[in-house]
Amino acid sequence: MEAAYREAARQLAQQKRCVVLSGAGISAESGIPTFRSKGGLWEKYDPAVYASIEVFRKDPSKYWQIRGDFIRDYNRYQPNAAHRALVELEQAGIVRQIITQNIDGLHRKAGSRQVIEIHGSLREITCLQCGKQYLAPNVPDGTPPHCDCGGVLKPNTVLFGESLPPQALDSASREAQTCKTMLVIGTSAVVYPAAALPSLAKQHGARIIEVNIERAFPDADVVILEKATVAMTRLLEEIRTFIV
Ligand SMILES: [Zn+2]
Repeated sequence: MEAAYREAARQLAQQKRCVVLSGAGISAESGIPTFRSKGGLWEKYDPAVYASIEVFRKDPSKYWQIRGDFIRDYNRYQPNAAHRALVELEQAGIVRQIITQNIDGLHRKAGSRQVIEIHGSLREITCLQCGKQYLAPNVPDGTPPHCDCGGVLKPNTVLFGESLPPQALDSASREAQTCKTMLVIGTSAVVYPAAALPSLAKQHGARIIEVNIERAFPDADVVILEKATVAMTRLLEEIRTFIV
């Protein structure tokens, strides 16, 4: 593992132009409930009912009910050491872009500037009728909030049955094709299209560094099997020895 940190740090410090792909694993240590894993949100709630655009259009209360449960107190979640390490790497000119599958907004909250949220964000909601945007309120009782115009407000997250925002996808794919390193943190290779980004990067000459609890990317050149906060703190220390 020692050698893996050294190798990853050398790659990042020397090549720069790093694009990060992050998933639920980076936010798990901030206490964000997971969706797909064992004990995750989708074991309790069927996403085909509670997070589908089709159901939402007919009866938005299902979504707002789960949302009340999930983020009753969304603002209490704070970025952790892994999010903060990425802020420092961006400021050092090493990380150029973060592409995240997370909707929790913690990368931006930590202070990262270049963030593509390919599954959208919990932070804002949009009126389905007139398109007006609002900051998301806390809705602990599950009552769907309404716009001034009377329209129902929909989260700016991608629900099941909706396509991903094309602009975000285009940028993510462009970033993957032009980076020198793709640093994959806390994501398994199951949800497309994000799961395809490391291979795309690799095809275009990038090296892949994987930070995960369990290995998920056979294409990875350097693998660090560790929790995100521990791995990123350690990696940051190693990188500092190269850039001093
Ligand atoms: Zn409206």
